[in-house]
Amino acid sequence: MKKDVTPPKKPLIFYYIIVLVVLLLINSMLVPYISKVSIKEVNYNDFLDMLESGAVQEVQINENTIAFSAMDEDGLIGIYTTGLMNDSSLVDRLRSANVTFGQVVPEEASPVLSFLLGWLLPLVVFIGIGQLMMRKLTNKLGGGAGAMSFGKSNAKVYVAAQTGKTFADVAGEDEAKAALKEIVDFLHDPDKYKEIGAKLPKGALLVGPPGTGKTLLAQAVAGEAKVPFFSISGSEFVEMFVGMGASRVRDLFKQAQEKAPCIVFIDEIDAIGKKRDNGMSSNDEREQTLNQLLTEMDGFDGSKGVVILAATNRPESLDQALLRPGRFDRRVPVELPDVVGREAILRVHAKDVKMAPDINYHAIALATSGTSGAELANIINEAALMAVKENRKQVEQRDLEEAIETVLAGYQRKGAVISDQEKKIISYHEIGHALVAARQKSSAPVHKITIIPRTSGALGYTMQVDEDEHYLMTREELFNKITTLTAGRAAEELVFGLVTSGASNDIEKATQLARTMVTRLGMCEAFDMTALEVVNNAYLGGDTSLACSAETAARVDTEVMNIIREAHKRAADILKADELLLHRLAAFLLEKETITGEEFTAIMEQNPPRIEA
Ligand code: ADP
Ligand code: MG
Ligand code: ZN
Repeated sequence: MKKDVTPPKKPLIFYYIIVLVVLLLINSMLVPYISKVSIKEVNYNDFLDMLESGAVQEVQINENTIAFSAMDEDGLIGIYTTGLMNDSSLVDRLRSANVTFGQVVPEEASPVLSFLLGWLLPLVVFIGIGQLMMRKLTNKLGGGAGAMSFGKSNAKVYVAAQTGKTFADVAGEDEAKAALKEIVDFLHDPDKYKEIGAKLPKGALLVGPPGTGKTLLAQAVAGEAKVPFFSISGSEFVEMFVGMGASRVRDLFKQAQEKAPCIVFIDEIDAIGKKRDNGMSSNDEREQTLNQLLTEMDGFDGSKGVVILAATNRPESLDQALLRPGRFDRRVPVELPDVVGREAILRVHAKDVKMAPDINYHAIALATSGTSGAELANIINEAALMAVKENRKQVEQRDLEEAIETVLAGYQRKGAVISDQEKKIISYHEIGHALVAARQKSSAPVHKITIIPRTSGALGYTMQVDEDEHYLMTREELFNKITTLTAGRAAEELVFGLVTSGASNDIEKATQLARTMVTRLGMCEAFDMTALEVVNNAYLGGDTSLACSAETAARVDTEVMNIIREAHKRAADILKADELLLHRLAAFLLEKETITGEEFTAIMEQNPPRIEA
């Protein structure tokens, strides 16, 4: 959900009404004209007859026509025209018929009308278009601000009712909620804090991976706080004109101080708050904006009750000056939810959806380890869509199960044509993973094995779900994980004596894990507890950069290779010892395409391990 409050703007119909009024105006001036000209046409002969009979009363000779009024048999006066003939005796006839007549010098229809049509109408249209364009432009530049007020902050003032979000809508982020509640509480009742002498933090920074509910939390604060809430996104400060950002910041804080006590929320603050020292890509406009922000944050009196909230998923890229006490001196982590949090988030989102009464949310939460609130919301929605697709009135457990896979691995590729030989290889590959996982201690139980391809590119996968959530991983568990990852390839080698590209993803993951063990977790004898790599942005993918000499890096590579080689060999050994079972399971999978955890466990229980791994 994005910000759902837009500033009230004049709807398009406003312009239609203006045009309509102008048209009506013109019309009302034209109508008398037109009605006067609503006239009968007669031929010249009839005109002469009428003239002789004395019915004609008044005659007007125009350039090409003669217009005249005449009384008909009923005594009603009508207006007639007839073509002008080259009739030299006309004047005599008219005189003898005793009618008033005259010639009209051709001239423009009406000075007022022609002025209206010639000048005013284009002017009105022109101004109208100009206004529209200006509005569009300013909308792009800065929202609801008036036409010429470039540089005005376009922070929207939310009030409680507008976001419609409260802390009840945010699940699982209890620590973050507690920290923010305190701020809301202070703004409600500052005296309570003043009595003791406690100072409120000037600013709080919400940090966490994308989709964990930072923006949602800020909206909830807006809903809970009974004070004005200004919300603006960092990118909105940086616009096309130099100096605009700084002036926006100034304006925002001016507004905020006028409305104090109030809350100012700057979303995605990294857009303006990046470190300034980067010579290569220095950006004057951004630096100016940041400097202005720093100045304003120092300038205002915190006791007045202006609290700045900001959100980012790149805290490490923020300028140190922003983070020092007195500015954003409080940091509120909004982390990926744990299993309890995930269950709570699922329940919050399930409230708006018709769910079967016996849904096991805990099972879904367990199977979605590592997902964010946004993904969980998406899972509920995908499940609802699936229920609709099958014409059911409520969402069932299997919809949720399928939705997890949809969100994590993409949709089923029903149309994919895969040859029988390839299907066989994929089956062995997946059973390799599953079998090795099952034969190792301290390895998560297999939840599902499938060879139905997905739009993400996966040709099949083995899902493992832990019975409860782990916060620590032992060296053995990590090593077992790598072993499981190498087992797909090991099965292909054992059965077909060939290697395929199907293991590319496994290889990537295994290498990454082994590397982490060596460089960051101190799980390699040779390096003891040395950090050889640093994480760059923990919340966005977590890519790393080396922090060691080239020689050490070369040794790191050797150690990583050793771990993987060892794991690969072990996987091969396990499979070799259980080759019969491998064939049986692979044939079963090939036939059924999907095996559930229960089916798999049942088969494994009939075949106790021969070697103790
Ligand atoms: P971000 O941290 O990237 O700002 P958002 O606040 O925009 O994430 O979250 C996106 C959506 O994900 C929310 O609108 C909400 O539907 C869902 N969501 C994320 N976290 C939670 C949560 N803790 N509880 C309930 N819903 C959540
Ligand atoms: Mg956000
Ligand atoms: Zn694999």
